[in-house]
Amino acid sequence: MRTVHYDALVIGLGVMGSACADTLARKGLSVLGVERSPEHDGDGASFGGSRLFRAHPGKPALTAAGRAAARLWADLEHDAARPLFVPTGGVTVCADPAEFAASGSRVLTRTEMRNLLPGVRIAADEYGVLEPDAGILLAEDCVAALRARAVRSGARLQFGHTADPIDLTNTDGPVRVRIGAETVTTERLVLATGAWAAAMELDGMPELSVERAVVHWLADPVPTPAPFVIFDQDPTPFGLFPAVGGRAAKFGRFSTGVLVDPLDPATGVDPATVSDDLAQLRDRLPAVGTRPGLRSTVCRYTNTPDGALTVARPTRRVAAVCACSGIGFKFAPVVGQLVADVLTDGRTEYSSDAVTVCGPGESPATGDGLPTA
Ligand SMILES: Cc1cc2nc3c(=O)[nH]c(=O)nc-3n(C[C@H](O)[C@H](O)[C@H](O)COP(=O)(O)OP(=O)(O)OC[C@H]3O[C@@H](n4cnc5c(N)ncnc54)[C@H](O)[C@@H]3O)c2cc1C
Repeated sequence: MRTVHYDALVIGLGVMGSACADTLARKGLSVLGVERSPEHDGDGASFGGSRLFRAHPGKPALTAAGRAAARLWADLEHDAARPLFVPTGGVTVCADPAEFAASGSRVLTRTEMRNLLPGVRIAADEYGVLEPDAGILLAEDCVAALRARAVRSGARLQFGHTADPIDLTNTDGPVRVRIGAETVTTERLVLATGAWAAAMELDGMPELSVERAVVHWLADPVPTPAPFVIFDQDPTPFGLFPAVGGRAAKFGRFSTGVLVDPLDPATGVDPATVSDDLAQLRDRLPAVGTRPGLRSTVCRYTNTPDGALTVARPTRRVAAVCACSGIGFKFAPVVGQLVADVLTDGRTEYSSDAVTVCGPGESPATGDGLPTA
């Protein structure tokens, strides 16, 4: 069996692993990235057309992390020379705007709400909070751009290869990982295996739960508002995304409460879920009708107990990324930067309350918090 050595090995090339591979390679390290799925297909959480980018009003740590992420996505967009972000703005429809009205967001008047959300049913006692800088990240394009920049910076990325379970008990020398016919030794290991991390028991990793999520695409053109809309107080909070970047409009609940085994493949959608979710949308958007030509897909949220984005450090050579739940995508470049910094320098200016770094290994020395520019 051939043994190869890399300064850094990244296992899992969803958005988090791709961001880590990109940042590590741009720091000048030799990097191998390994992904078990084919390059343009997979059942990880980083695909499905679009991901909300928003400031998370009322959550200052996430707002600050979002600002840093916005700058890093803009840099990537510039390098990729193609659009990765569509600035649609976003509206949260809620009962109490106080919690949301912060960080550049604004409570809309009734007239503004009617103009911005035509055709949307809003109760007399509801408010709309506008996040003008919010928008939609084109998920597949973002991941492809991160991977492409990693490769341009010298990383080797392999698809269709699965890393074997890893023994982290020997903390003295380089980490050894078996991948197909090769043994890889490495000074720094990033585990960015998404839902599959829930099946690993790692020091510092919080207990993860994996929740089934269902997303529906409106295949028939239905007029939807231009901004994305979050209905915060419906029976289950749900989101309606406009059609952008050649993708259809889509909607889905933010939580289903259905926990699944992380190792089970995502299975099909049952008709009852489709009709319940459609009824919930129709209550808000009557124009959707009863048979809008839905295409429904299943994917998975990987949740930490407190919803915090987490990087576990089971040993000083290893970082396990669990920056997940339903909000992680937008923060991927910040997580990539943080992980690359702590694995190379032991400290990072990207440390913040938004990402918990925990475990018996080194924690990053906190700099001045997240850049606010
Ligand atoms: C339905 C849904 C909607 C969401 N909406 C938003 C949103 O609007 N805004 C937002 O910011 N975030 C959102 N999120 C969250 C965000 O998408 C996820 O946090 C993020 O994509 C997780 O990325 P990841 O790289 O950690 O995981 P994944 O994308 O799942 O990547 C993990 C990868 O590891 C690979 N892998 C696993 N084990 C191995 C192994 N042994 N060897 C090799 N490869 C392996 C898997 O194949 C997989 O590709 C949403 C998530 C879901 C599910």
